[in-house]
Amino acid sequence: MIKVRTGHAVDPEIRKQGSSGGVISALLTHLLESGKVDFVAQIATTQQNPLANELQISRTREDVIRAAGSRYAPSAPLRTLRDLLATGQKFAFVGKPCDIAALRRYSEFNEDIKTQVPYMLSFMCAGIPSMRGTYEVLEKLGADRTKLTSFRYRGDGWPGMTRAVQTDGQSFEMDYNTSWGTILGKHLQFRCKICPDGTGEFADVVCADAWYGKDGYPDFAEHDGRSLVLSRTQSGEALIQTAIENNSIDVSNLLTKEIALMQPYQVLRKKVALGRTIATFFSRGRMPIYRRLGLFRASIMINPIIWLRHAWGTYRRANGE
Ligand SMILES: Cc1cc2nc3c(=O)[nH]c(=O)nc-3n(C[C@H](O)[C@H](O)[C@H](O)COP(=O)(O)OP(=O)(O)OC[C@H]3O[C@@H](n4cnc5c(N)ncnc54)[C@H](O)[C@@H]3O)c2cc1C
Ligand code: SF4
Repeated sequence: MIKVRTGHAVDPEIRKQGSSGGVISALLTHLLESGKVDFVAQIATTQQNPLANELQISRTREDVIRAAGSRYAPSAPLRTLRDLLATGQKFAFVGKPCDIAALRRYSEFNEDIKTQVPYMLSFMCAGIPSMRGTYEVLEKLGADRTKLTSFRYRGDGWPGMTRAVQTDGQSFEMDYNTSWGTILGKHLQFRCKICPDGTGEFADVVCADAWYGKDGYPDFAEHDGRSLVLSRTQSGEALIQTAIENNSIDVSNLLTKEIALMQPYQVLRKKVALGRTIATFFSRGRMPIYRRLGLFRASIMINPIIWLRHAWGTYRRANGE
C-alpha cells in the first residue's frame, strides 16, 4: 500500500528549519510528544565540528529541530545500533534508504528491532557526496573550513541557501543549484551510482522535495517549503493520519503518477539500475545482488539505447576511466 501526498509541518519553526516542508521533523516531534516512542535516532552535526555527522538521540522538539535539514555528506546511523537496542526503549529511526533496507532486513532476524523500532523514516536519496564535495563548496565560497561555527547545505527557505559562518562572523552563501548541481552532485560515491532504491522502498514513511515543475523539469527557485510524503506501510499510514488529526502536518492528496514530475531523476535511475549493476559485474567481476525490487520490469520501461548508454557509462566509471 502506498499513499501519496504533499505537505508541510504546521509548526513554523520546524517548517523553516526542515529541508523541504519539515514533515520528517514534524512526524518525529509528534511521535515524541504523543509518547509513541521514547527517543529518535537520527543524524545531526557534532557539537564540536559543523561539518561532521553523527548519530543524535533526540528526546525533545528542540533536539529534532537541531537535526533538521539535509546533510550531503557521509553518515552512518546504524553504527551504534546495538547500544540503541540495549536501552530497551522504543525509538523511531531516520536513515538513508540503504540504512532502512539494512535495518528492515536485519529485523527479520532480530525480534528486538521489531518491537523497539516501530517507525523507520527515510527521504528520497540521489546519493551521498564524499567530504571532498563539501570541501570544494567551501573553497568556492572562500570560507576557511578550520574556522567554522556553522555550516548548512540548505534549509531556512526551500531549497534555501548553502551557508557557512566563520568564527570571526563572516558568512558566505551559495544557491542550491550551484552547490548541489555543479559541485556536490559530482562527488557521489560509486555505490550510489548503482543504487536500486533511491526512494526508500522499505521505510514506513518517505519524504522528498515536492518540486514544482517548470518546462518539464523541477524548478529550484525559492518557494514555501513543501514535502512529497509517501506512506508505505500500515504503521506509516497510521502515523500520518494521527499527525494530521493532531495538527502536526498539513497535507493534500496527490496522484501517484505526479511523483514522476517532481522526481524525474529517481524515475530514471530506477530504470537504469539493472544495466548499471550488470555493467559493474563486467567491469569489476562482482556486483551486488538485489531481490524483489522490480528492476527487470523497470528496465523494460525505458528506451534500450538510453539503458545501454547508462550501462556503458557505469562500465567506464567502474574501470576508473
Ligand atoms: C544524501 C541526501 C540525498 C537527497 N536526495 C534527494 C533526492 O534525490 N530527491 C529529493 O527530493 N530529496 C533529496 N534529499 C532531500 C530530502 O528530500 C529531504 O531531506 C526530504 O524531503 C525531507 O525533508 P523534510 O523537510 O521533511 O525533512 P527534515 O524535517 O529536514 O528532516 C530531515 C531528516 O533527515 C536526516 N538527515 C539529514 N541528512 C542526513 C544524512 N546525511 N544521513 C542520514 N540522515 C540524514 C535528519 O536527521 C532529519 O531527521 C536528499 C537528502 C540527503 C541528505
Ligand atoms: S543513493 Fe542509495 S546507496 Fe547511496 S546513500 Fe542513497 S540510498 Fe544509500
